[in-house]
Amino acid sequence: MTPRHTANTPLYLQLLQRLKTCFPGPVSEPVLDGYFIHTVSRFLDRVDDLKSAAPILGRSRRADYQNELGLKFPEETATVEQVTGLLAEYCQGMPIWAHPNSQVNVIPPTTIPSITAFVAAAIYNPNIIWDEYSARFAEAEIQTVSLVSDLVGYDPQLAGGVFTFSGTGTNFYGCKLGLEKVLGGKAMEEGVREDVKIVSSAASHYSRLNVSGWLGVGMKNLVTIPTTNNNDMSLPHLEEYLRRALDAGEKVGVIIATMGTTDAFGLDDLGAIVRLRDQLAREYLLPQPPHIHADAVIGWAWSVFKDYDFQANPLGFKARTLKALRHSLGRLGDLAQADSLGIDFHKTGYAPYLSSLFMVKDRRDLACLSREPEEMPYLYHFGSYHPGIFTLECSRPGSGALAAYANIRLLGKQGYRVLIGHAVEMAEMLRERLEAYPFIQVVNDRNFGPVTLFRAYPPGVDAEAAWRREVKDPAYRKELEAHNFYNRRVFQLTHDWAMRGEGVLLSWTDAYRHARYGREEGPPIAALKSYILSPWTDAAAVDMVARQVAEARNAMESER
Ligand SMILES: *Cc1c(COP(=O)(O)O)cnc(C)c1O
Repeated sequence: MTPRHTANTPLYLQLLQRLKTCFPGPVSEPVLDGYFIHTVSRFLDRVDDLKSAAPILGRSRRADYQNELGLKFPEETATVEQVTGLLAEYCQGMPIWAHPNSQVNVIPPTTIPSITAFVAAAIYNPNIIWDEYSARFAEAEIQTVSLVSDLVGYDPQLAGGVFTFSGTGTNFYGCKLGLEKVLGGKAMEEGVREDVKIVSSAASHYSRLNVSGWLGVGMKNLVTIPTTNNNDMSLPHLEEYLRRALDAGEKVGVIIATMGTTDAFGLDDLGAIVRLRDQLAREYLLPQPPHIHADAVIGWAWSVFKDYDFQANPLGFKARTLKALRHSLGRLGDLAQADSLGIDFHKTGYAPYLSSLFMVKDRRDLACLSREPEEMPYLYHFGSYHPGIFTLECSRPGSGALAAYANIRLLGKQGYRVLIGHAVEMAEMLRERLEAYPFIQVVNDRNFGPVTLFRAYPPGVDAEAAWRREVKDPAYRKELEAHNFYNRRVFQLTHDWAMRGEGVLLSWTDAYRHARYGREEGPPIAALKSYILSPWTDAAAVDMVARQVAEARNAMESER
């Protein structure tokens, strides 16, 4: 294979020869193949050296991005070793999501098969715009859609779906479908020429702002329905709004039901929302009732408990865990009622970013997104799976679909039950510990997921009584704000300890919800947040959270 060089071989060909060693070889060749494996394994060793007792790799440093602004594009070529060494440096400061003391957010550790799927996609570079460019990666997408249909209860002969660019992308697709349906499929061609409403709860994900802005619906057409104290959409408010809108002849394109809110794991009552929609469609003789999209990017995984035998409890979960799982399933067992669904494998599915699946109950709905095949003739001459005709993206990576497929095959319902069940069991244990302190209040105690939001209060303040006033009493506003500040300090202290390997890394939300003063929205209520997803989280890690909050409080007393 290697061409021989003579003295008058042009320089570029000599350099090209060297550059070839920067790529995995196109044909099997033990030396090149060995070099590739060696490079990856040396890289992994270097990163492994960054591990310590702390839940982060190496040290975190506060970047001064100002210094990065004058960088010059390099003139010379570097070596593979130099660059992989550099890449290891860039892992410095990464939280280790699998660490028992990492309870940061809805970010999972990733399984070995899902990582391997990403490696496969990185090397062979499938583009699932079309099966001609992606071979069986496209099949993995189709199969995953089928497997997820089975899981959530969609009819696999009717349902459809595509992997897209994140949970935000799934909301994009859901809202676009609702928009096209209510406008009779005309927006694609003529643009959005009239107001169409997108309805969701106050605790729904902020990506709705992007979605409405970028779809041309406009943020002013977002309708925000207040939530109950359990962080789900208030049904009386929804009904009142819908009746008012329909009486006034407004077009309601989409209702987003949030099935697992980002901060609190609030669960909208999807079944009741669908019944209400159907009822109003009959009453108002709506030619096109609002499309219902379930933003289940977090909650979808609970579907694995639909056929768990809660009575016999073969996995041996604690009673409190069973109650929590059952309660969540009461809402998450209804996913098949939604017209479309968003599912993130990169959240509760234990796959790397990005692995997001948009599902539709009836794939004929996707037809209103399709452009004419003649418009993209160069892509669709042959092959038989052409999602590029209706996807928002042109290039779509095969990594997310194959990683999702890998985890479904690896874990099965049983594996997901164990992982999710464990996360919930640990979260319940944490709540039990926190509840034992009179100065700590769990503020999402009716949301039974892997996330626990709580607030600490200064000496002399009864936690529960204070919180009850904070959520609704305008006369208590000053105290609410002071307590937000107080908790921020608790967060900072515990964060510093965790970074030194002496505590649990938690996170912080500025507003898990707002206070509600009658019909008016009050100030934001902040909270400390523990999000458990790691299979390594254990009782010791959970104990430490409660203890470190108490210690932070003591430390703050001596600061005064
Ligand atoms: C995370 C999240 C999203 C957005 O998903 P991304 O993958 O981060 O774009 C949407 N909805 C909910 C409820 C989420 O928690």
